[in-house]
Amino acid sequence: MAEATDKPFGTVFGESMTTVSWTQSDGYGKPEVVPVGEISIHPGAHVFHYGSSIFEGLKAHRGDDGVVRAFRLDRHIERMQRSSTFLCLPEPPTELVETMVLDAVKANLDIIPPAPGALYIRPTMIGTEVNIGAAAHEPQSGIFYILTSPVGAYFTGDQTLRVAVETKRLRSTPGFGEAKAGANYAMALRIVREAEQMYDTDQVLFAPDGQIEETGAANFLLISNDRIITPPAEGNILNGVTRDSILTLGHGLGYQIEERPVAVDEAISWQGEAALSGTAAVLAPVGTLLLDGVEYQMLDGKPGTNTVRLRQALQDVQLGRAEDTHGWMRSVG
Ligand SMILES: *Cc1c(COP(=O)(O)O)cnc(C)c1O
Repeated sequence: MAEATDKPFGTVFGESMTTVSWTQSDGYGKPEVVPVGEISIHPGAHVFHYGSSIFEGLKAHRGDDGVVRAFRLDRHIERMQRSSTFLCLPEPPTELVETMVLDAVKANLDIIPPAPGALYIRPTMIGTEVNIGAAAHEPQSGIFYILTSPVGAYFTGDQTLRVAVETKRLRSTPGFGEAKAGANYAMALRIVREAEQMYDTDQVLFAPDGQIEETGAANFLLISNDRIITPPAEGNILNGVTRDSILTLGHGLGYQIEERPVAVDEAISWQGEAALSGTAAVLAPVGTLLLDGVEYQMLDGKPGTNTVRLRQALQDVQLGRAEDTHGWMRSVG
């Protein structure tokens, strides 16, 4: 699948997906494996008008030994269940999601690219009840499906990110930022686009009242030779699985882990590395922070050695090169 992984992230899909329908009254039906293609949804469906949409993003990796393993499936299932409660969608049972994810991977085993590529897995839930009068009601019915997408490395080589710091506007609303929902991306989009147009940035780091939260789709970490500092994953901050994994592996490598509030002032004067963590990007080095148009370079602006080391430690576990001491990997197939 060399061709697939040369294409932009998220534009190539596996040929099969798993899908199940649900109703609030009867719960989930029986999941099926179906070809990926157009689905028919009424224009009056709840999702189009009132945003009943949540998703997850995780990966399955093909190890050097040829074994395909899904990364921290249990954590992603728990988060999807939590997101569902925020949007009054019916919580999908653990075994159902597990089966549907594993079946989606099995159905697309032959398109999983070798490392550093992977199979990105996108569980998606939407409300399809046809009722534009249901603004104040949860959708009574909907579907839950699991798409897959073969992906290459998100970042390569020497790339570092330019990140604008936004100290006034919010990424989400207090509390709701914990949900992995399309609505949060819709809220942040205009701010991200404005920064891109003004400063040619890749991302916006949201830091209301000068306290750092996260970017539109990734968590933020300050890293030095002996410390990893990141704001606690609560309230507005999405509880990233990559963030948690880096902290756990970092602790094992002897880094001191500090989960505490991080002020913008600390970040812009930090004599060390900064990085963004997320399933797609893994651990992406930040080269420059921009505050009110003023640039602050992180060290020499190049990927830092600690960032590269931590990313490598995570990838070694994902590819079966290092022992999976935390039980994160789930063999498929
Ligand atoms: C998905 C996401 C992340 C990263 O979470 P991972 O579990 O590491 O992929 C961070 N912030 C937001 C807002 C997200 O939607």
